[in-house]
Amino acid sequence: MTSFWLPDETGFSYRNGALFCEDVPVTELADKYGTPSFIYSRKAIETAFRDYDGAFGSHPHHILYSVKACSNIGIISLLAKLGSGFDIVSGGELLRVEAAGGDLSKVVYSGVGKTDKEIALALEKGIHCFNIESVPELNDIARVAASLGKVAPIAVRVNPNVDAKTHPYISTGLKNNKFGVAYEKTVELYKQAAAMPSIRVVGIDCHIGSQITELSPFADAEEKILDIVDQLAAEGIPLEHIDFGGGLGVCYKDEVPPSKREFVRLILDHLEARGYKHLAVTLEPGRSIIANAGILITRVIRDKTGETKNFAIVDAAMNDMGRPMFYEAWMGIVPAVPRDGATRTYDVVGPICESGDWLGRDRELCIEPGDVLAITSCGAYGMAMSSNYNSRPRAAEVLVSGSTSQVIREREKPEDLWRGEHLPTL
Ligand SMILES: *Cc1c(COP(=O)(O)O)cnc(C)c1O
Repeated sequence: MTSFWLPDETGFSYRNGALFCEDVPVTELADKYGTPSFIYSRKAIETAFRDYDGAFGSHPHHILYSVKACSNIGIISLLAKLGSGFDIVSGGELLRVEAAGGDLSKVVYSGVGKTDKEIALALEKGIHCFNIESVPELNDIARVAASLGKVAPIAVRVNPNVDAKTHPYISTGLKNNKFGVAYEKTVELYKQAAAMPSIRVVGIDCHIGSQITELSPFADAEEKILDIVDQLAAEGIPLEHIDFGGGLGVCYKDEVPPSKREFVRLILDHLEARGYKHLAVTLEPGRSIIANAGILITRVIRDKTGETKNFAIVDAAMNDMGRPMFYEAWMGIVPAVPRDGATRTYDVVGPICESGDWLGRDRELCIEPGDVLAITSCGAYGMAMSSNYNSRPRAAEVLVSGSTSQVIREREKPEDLWRGEHLPTL
């Protein structure tokens, strides 16, 4: 019996020839909830959060889960109960955190396109701070805050112009990216902000990209941010926190990213060396909390032998998990119950009418129609990026804890597909 490599042993393991999520066989979940479904391990989520939290020891810190990675209110609620705050990028995410019972005073709001309406909503809900990304945005926040008789807490998201050495689409800290304030303009912007009556400066922020698997880009960014903190101190603008964003990579295949402990150690060492031992540190991890805490389960519909390739056609598709199409990403694909027998090389594809609809290429599998496969590391940027393309109802989401499981988002019904649409009466 072959065993298959899994990226997270905390949540997923093979026992007696069958894949388990915690103490539940994955085939049982497929029978009970149908496919495709996202399955999350509560233990894996909690372990990831606690690894970050514990790495700080007694150093003042805030771990703010980045909601866009996986925004189900069930997941937000689990993390809120562990003490997590939240990094949001839209008014919708703010309302999700509220619906999940999260603490809105532990929310930071990033993003280049906050509208007046979203700014007003965040001010009314009393978030911790806005991470502002441009001078016009600062002016808009100041204006909206003044009109509401409020003072807006802000941090400036600095673009440190460092190469995160990751995929171009998830690299955000280079000069040519739309994110953050140009490094050389930052101090000037802080001076403007500090002089505005409806603005209160509370911190500084950067987020240089995602799926970063080396420490050096983080170290470079931190040094550059601390240079600005020095200049702000000289200008008499004190900060309450320094936010290093998210971006720590995970292992999908054979990447060896730094551990959360090494990452936090690096941050604290640099802080200490530069004399900022007491400055509170904020992190905004998304992927490194949830990616390897989730799988997408799918059933083989058909085994199609093509002219030059074999296709394993499955009932999950690019509308459920878009990373292969968007980033040519490699995702693990493993059988729920490995078969004894000869393998063949397959492209694992979905039913969508696009050649970009593939989940894995050239995979060695021994499968039959009806078999359940698990696509691993699907917790982050899976369900959150899903769509209804080809009128496919969105998958169910299921949380597993020990030997119990619960639906945290129901599978969409066909009638959900056209909800809000109207036959014309003109
Ligand atoms: C996406 C994002 C994050 C989270 O990034 P991960 O790579 O998932 O950790 C954090 N902060 C901001 C501003 C983001 O846009």
